[in-house]
Amino acid sequence: MTQVFVALGANLEDPKAQLDNAVTALSALAEQDSLKVSPYYCSTPMGDVVQPDYINAVASFNTKLRPLALLDALQQIENTQGRVRKERWGPRTLDLDLLLYGDEIIDEPRLKVPHYGMKERSFVLVPLSAIAPDLVLPCKTTLRSLISDKFLAELQRLDNDH
Ligand code: ATP
Ligand code: CA
Ligand code: CA
Repeated sequence: MTQVFVALGANLEDPKAQLDNAVTALSALAEQDSLKVSPYYCSTPMGDVVQPDYINAVASFNTKLRPLALLDALQQIENTQGRVRKERWGPRTLDLDLLLYGDEIIDEPRLKVPHYGMKERSFVLVPLSAIAPDLVLPCKTTLRSLISDKFLAELQRLDNDH
């Protein structure tokens, strides 16, 4: 069994409901009582595509699924929630990125873990720190050292209980 961290993002078709549905779907992949979900945050989109703001969160859970089987399951959840793959960083109903799979470093054509962008993305690091403030990445960097005041200022935390 391995502890994994997954980033959730959505900016179409009631993004908050998309995240709620994704959390329910993730709970089916999680060993009993292991699922933790951060608060939801609102963020401004990356890149040059004009699109609505995102709702983001991070979940962690323990799973027996091996990495590629987990990726398949995450992509299936995205597809079930109507994900259409068009331009890079374009709007989407749901994006699930595998951030960390235990301490493993994975370099396969379909799956790179730790996720390549996580250290630079406030909408990943801030929710991650809400559920795992003492996390140390496989490269030995502490999560705390990556979170700047600028990152904290980029996100708006939503008042939601889940
Ligand atoms: P970004 O990866 O920059 O966040 P994105 O999430 O919009 O952009 P997608 O179109 O969702 O990118 O994914 C493109 C491909 O990335 C997927 O088909 C998947 O095979 C691959 N991929 C590689 N590593 C990961 C990972 N750690 N988590 C999820 N997908 C990954
Ligand atoms: Ca992504
Ligand atoms: Ca993705």
